[in-house]
Amino acid sequence: MRVRSYIGLLVAVAAAVAASYWTHHNRSLFYEPFHVTSTSTIPLWIVLVLLFVAGLLPSATALLVQNLKRDLALRRERRAGREAESLRSSFRRAVDYQVDGQWHRSAQELEAVLKGQPDHFSALQRYGEALRHLGRADEALEVHRRALANYPHSVALLYGLADDYEARGDAEIARETRARVLRDYPGFGLAVLRRRRNQAMALRDWEEAVRQQEAIETLLREAGDGAALSAESGVARGLAYQRGVRLLELDRVEEAAARFEELLAKEPMFIPAAIMHGEAELLRGSEEAALADWRRGYESTGSPVFLQRIEDHLIESSEPVRAIETLRSIIAASKNDVLPRFFLGRLYYRLEMHDEALRMLDSVGERILASPTYHFLLARIHERRGEMRKAAESYLACVRQLGIDKAEYRCRSCRMRFADWRDRCESCGTWNSIELDFEEEKVSAAELGIREAPMWSASDESGEFPQVELKRS
Ligand SMILES: [Zn+2]
Repeated sequence: MRVRSYIGLLVAVAAAVAASYWTHHNRSLFYEPFHVTSTSTIPLWIVLVLLFVAGLLPSATALLVQNLKRDLALRRERRAGREAESLRSSFRRAVDYQVDGQWHRSAQELEAVLKGQPDHFSALQRYGEALRHLGRADEALEVHRRALANYPHSVALLYGLADDYEARGDAEIARETRARVLRDYPGFGLAVLRRRRNQAMALRDWEEAVRQQEAIETLLREAGDGAALSAESGVARGLAYQRGVRLLELDRVEEAAARFEELLAKEPMFIPAAIMHGEAELLRGSEEAALADWRRGYESTGSPVFLQRIEDHLIESSEPVRAIETLRSIIAASKNDVLPRFFLGRLYYRLEMHDEALRMLDSVGERILASPTYHFLLARIHERRGEMRKAAESYLACVRQLGIDKAEYRCRSCRMRFADWRDRCESCGTWNSIELDFEEEKVSAAELGIREAPMWSASDESGEFPQVELKRS
């Protein structure tokens, strides 16, 4: 118990004792008649009580009213906060749904947001976009127009409006609207187009990215900016490749193959395009052509990705002998046979032919002694053969050079590691940059016979699209 409450209690008890004492000794006084009128009387104590209450009433009422007001305000504030939070989470969900391409659900969430905040800029913009994707172009147009009334200088809204017109089939008005943006906001239009393209790329919405890319290129061509235009060619190539992949996914094999051929004619070192051309051949049913593709890819780029693909394919189709023979013939034909020998060694290991594996790896050991991947493989072979001492030595050599790491592939642009090969780095968005990792700081790419390949990516800030040179030690 706190001191103050203790003292309060004492005072209260004392007051009660005093009150009962005085009441007892002045009982007759309290019952003295009090004349209200000349004829009617009431006891004095009632008058005293009434006076006391009357004195207390104004301040008590004021206190009560004040408390009520504060309560009400607090409750209102809390409700507004809850509503704002629910609108915010609705909006967040709407954005997530859009990223997933669930336009219907996104539209529902945005309707809830707009019911609470009818002028919410991003909600209006996104709601219009969702409606357009749902094929309700007229309504989309209406929403974007309403938003423009409040935000007349938003370039993003104007572009949205242009897209709505296009979706409605008013190509001419769409073109005029875009032209107006470029005229009224010189320089800004290009930045917005690039941002929209990069956003679409981040969402892997390649169709949309291609549309934006075409708009960018048209703009640069009209401005006569040849340097910027040629800097765009890398991204354009990357996007063309993605469209090819999409066609392949849709089983439109012939179109996809034609696209990859076109790309390879322009850039023979575009490794993903060569890999995918082989995949297209496989889908066409001509395994021979696919294998020939990949082999040609290896011969022209020196990239081990092709060897991996050949090996994987032949193992998957249960033709290990053919895999061995293919790698042997590649070794025979190669000037620099380190990588094919390494792969053949690894293949022997996969097939549990340990003596052959060790012999093959021994034959390249001197040349890639510094590669942790090499030692890791050696260690695993020794382990399988039960030679634990030798295995331990090899593991140690591997750990010393690399640290334990299962990721075998690495982006040449941002150094991000991956467990599998991929055509485009998810971390930095560069195409043609993922390569089997032989720790090139320690074993040079030239020693491995890997040739330099260009990489392309779109950068966000500067709007520049550098052709990154492969760093070589
Ligand atoms: Zn990267």
